[in-house]
Amino acid sequence: MEFTVEAAVAALADRTNILVFTGAGISTESGIPDFRSPGGLWTRLNPDDFTLSRYLSDPEVRAKSWGARFPRLYGGSTPNPAHHAVVDLWKAGRMVGCVTQNIDGLHQAAGLPLDTIAELHGNADGIACVTCGASADVSEVEARWHGGDRDPRCTLCGGILKSTIVFFEEMLPGPPMEQAQSWIGQADAVIAVGSSLSVFPAAYIPLEVAGRGHPLVIINRGPTEFDDRATVRVRGMAGTILPQLVAALTAP
Ligand code: NAD
Repeated sequence: MEFTVEAAVAALADRTNILVFTGAGISTESGIPDFRSPGGLWTRLNPDDFTLSRYLSDPEVRAKSWGARFPRLYGGSTPNPAHHAVVDLWKAGRMVGCVTQNIDGLHQAAGLPLDTIAELHGNADGIACVTCGASADVSEVEARWHGGDRDPRCTLCGGILKSTIVFFEEMLPGPPMEQAQSWIGQADAVIAVGSSLSVFPAAYIPLEVAGRGHPLVIINRGPTEFDDRATVRVRGMAGTILPQLVAALTAP
């Protein structure tokens, strides 16, 4: 069953600690393809090329990965009205935090403070050594790559360098997971935007808030794994629906 924005406003009207959970769908209107929609990345790329074991064991996979990384992955993209609506919800004092599966940095670019964002799957902006953990200077690594080094190594220990995006098989980073757990405990509602809710453990986060008896509002263009668990499920574009919802919730 589909609901209206008004139903979502009613479900969230008295909520002041809303957890916002975002997926790739919030950024498609910024020109970044998601994974699972028709035309999404998985219709063009093989997910098996993005496992940690393949990356570590095969220099050719690493070279391919750097080839996709330089020039900057999401360099030309800018936040859209859905990202700005999340900022408005935070400014109105109605949001406990934003947990994102996205790696594009567009919540930060929209003006959401870093301490209100938990990036569960890392960020495409950084590069680090898988052996010693040291951060590498992105411009310096990029210069080496353009100079013909197809497998740039850590200048400190010689280890393999990797983007700070979380790959398949990789553990989720501890601090964002801890931050998300803390927000789950404080949240009195959750809005899941632009996610198929099919990547775990991330997708458990909105369900945990709902499992504590709080409203779950899902805003998504296509179906999600947990539409049947939603208090209100609004089908449509995040860049249209989220600003309408937030405007109604934050109106004086
Ligand atoms: P997904 O591709 O599985 O699902 C995206 C969902 O968003 C789909 O159900 C689709 O119907 C919906 N959608 C697409 N455009 C929309 C729009 N404009 N408005 C509303 N809904 C829209 O993505 P996911 O659930 O985030 O999980 C998969 C993984 O995708 C995550 O691990 C994330 O790291 C990764 N990813 C991130 C980016 C990014 O950072 N922008 C891009 C691609 C993939």
